[in-house]
Amino acid sequence: MCGIVGYIGDRTAWPIIIKGLQRLEYRGYDSAGIAVIDEGKLRLNKCRGRVSDLQNQVKGQSISGSLGIGHTRWATHGEPNDINAHPHVSMNGKIVVVHNGIIENYRTIRKSLQDAGYTFKGETDTEVLADFIEYIYMTQHVSAEQAIKVALNKVIGAYGLGIICTDEPDKLFGARKGSPLAVGVGQGEYFMASDATPIVEYTDKLVYLEDEQVVVLTRQGMEISDLKDVHVDPVITKIEFSADSIDKGGYEHFMLKEIHEQPNSLADTMRGRIVEQTQSINLGGISEVMPKLVSANRIIIVACGTSYHAGLVGEYLFEQFARINVEVEYASEFRYRDPIISEEDVVLVISQSGETADTLAALRMAKEKGATVIGICNVVGSSIARETHAGIYTHAGPEIGVASTKAFTSQVVALTMMALAIGRKRGKIEDARYSELISGLLQLPELVERVLKGDEHIKEVSRAYQLAQNAIYLGRGYLFPVALEGALKLKEISYIHAEGYPAAEMKHGPIALIDNCMPVFVLATRDKYYDKVVNNIQEVKARKGQVVAIVTEGDTEIARLADYVIEIPECDEALLPMLAVVPLQLISYHIAVMRRCDVDQPRNLAKSVTVE
Ligand code: GLU
Repeated sequence: MCGIVGYIGDRTAWPIIIKGLQRLEYRGYDSAGIAVIDEGKLRLNKCRGRVSDLQNQVKGQSISGSLGIGHTRWATHGEPNDINAHPHVSMNGKIVVVHNGIIENYRTIRKSLQDAGYTFKGETDTEVLADFIEYIYMTQHVSAEQAIKVALNKVIGAYGLGIICTDEPDKLFGARKGSPLAVGVGQGEYFMASDATPIVEYTDKLVYLEDEQVVVLTRQGMEISDLKDVHVDPVITKIEFSADSIDKGGYEHFMLKEIHEQPNSLADTMRGRIVEQTQSINLGGISEVMPKLVSANRIIIVACGTSYHAGLVGEYLFEQFARINVEVEYASEFRYRDPIISEEDVVLVISQSGETADTLAALRMAKEKGATVIGICNVVGSSIARETHAGIYTHAGPEIGVASTKAFTSQVVALTMMALAIGRKRGKIEDARYSELISGLLQLPELVERVLKGDEHIKEVSRAYQLAQNAIYLGRGYLFPVALEGALKLKEISYIHAEGYPAAEMKHGPIALIDNCMPVFVLATRDKYYDKVVNNIQEVKARKGQVVAIVTEGDTEIARLADYVIEIPECDEALLPMLAVVPLQLISYHIAVMRRCDVDQPRNLAKSVTVE
């Protein structure tokens, strides 16, 4: 996730691009850069930090030139620093690239370029792509457009691209696959951007590129073709929304946008890591510590808040598939308890931001005591990512809503991949079961999409409970941590008091709270606990509690008992958390909106808790 802006026309490109980047900064914000062609020469400015840091860098200089590309980065490969910031210029200075997405096979391409004498300045996949295009351009003696197409035919992954070739200084190239790219059509000028936000004030005519299309923009016109070189007629659409609404992709809040992004963010977490053909899991970030994980005495998962709930799911996964003893700890408790940690232990810390103060402190302590420390973070180059021995990035894209949603599901996918990879190495999981789970994982984005389609019904159910003062969430097995997460979401953004419990624990206390004003959200899918959970629902109904059950599609038994049911598609029990949490996220969102709460910035909360 990041923002791309490009311009070609008669105006000065720099201010248009800067302004566009500011509009896109919500998409990614760890580095920024702009390249323009100024009197035939390339002028490049880039740095770590915000777009305002880039502005400071060039203060006092006048940068003319009416063709350029800019980028605000959200790092996936290589930490955020000046060198890894985009635009990337190829080794011989011919190709300049800004990129949104991930080039999955960049390691193989990098290796072949190294063999051909290329050297690299940074660690990004994007730099490799710039060099790859240049290599083709120079060795095959083709046009820049052809070189781009040849390269993109060989690239695996996702990209939105803005490209300049310094030998062809009156052309601006764009391409997309998986990451969005739009072209704004003006009078003798064109704008290019990841979404319409930077374009809307100059023109309302927009062309959205489709996957595997390349656009060549000159001051005279626009030419679109696909990677097979077949011409495509541009379809011009009219922008009908305000710049403000597209910041959130047309959604009312970032949280809702992020909930709806989950089919993509889940796919991004798995991208390049699960190879369908060979049914293999490749977690490059932890390959070096794999022997340690395989022989670990126990894994201690340390986290806070929503990440802690992901950790609890991890406990079920690691114990079931890798047969390793797991403990899950709140970072704040763990760090002050003088815990017993040995060199045989692996400590796994989980944090979306990678900056959570207690988790970071726990990591440092565990490291000092000799444990191998592994991280699961979303923000590349964050403190936790830097200080752990190894780790997995979730690649879920920036999460802006304070209540975490897509980061949670991506953390759980990362944990699932890890558990399966370790279980396989330890010989604890049968081939058939392993393949079943791999296929199940790959289907998840589509299944989540189906849950999201039921949002209108979920909203109606939420309406019934908007005035509730308390709520209980119940689940068993893999869905117990989801019950905790559901309750946390409701507390965080709607300020309704909510508790999550293992369903069977209800009789040991919480049942005393149940009356006809108490909504009880029960995770009651068809899994091995089904009959027991049905009994728990009966117990609630016998005390006049209100039951909202999350059930497997087609379940009629619970529909007869519960006040409302929300269906989710059938899926492997071990993968259910990523599916079952989605209706709970939506319920808290809708209830919070109905109660007029500030969904994206709930009172008293901060996105990244950098104080203990
Ligand atoms: N994969 C690229 C990088 O790490 C692009 C990331 C983005 O979309 O900002 O630099």
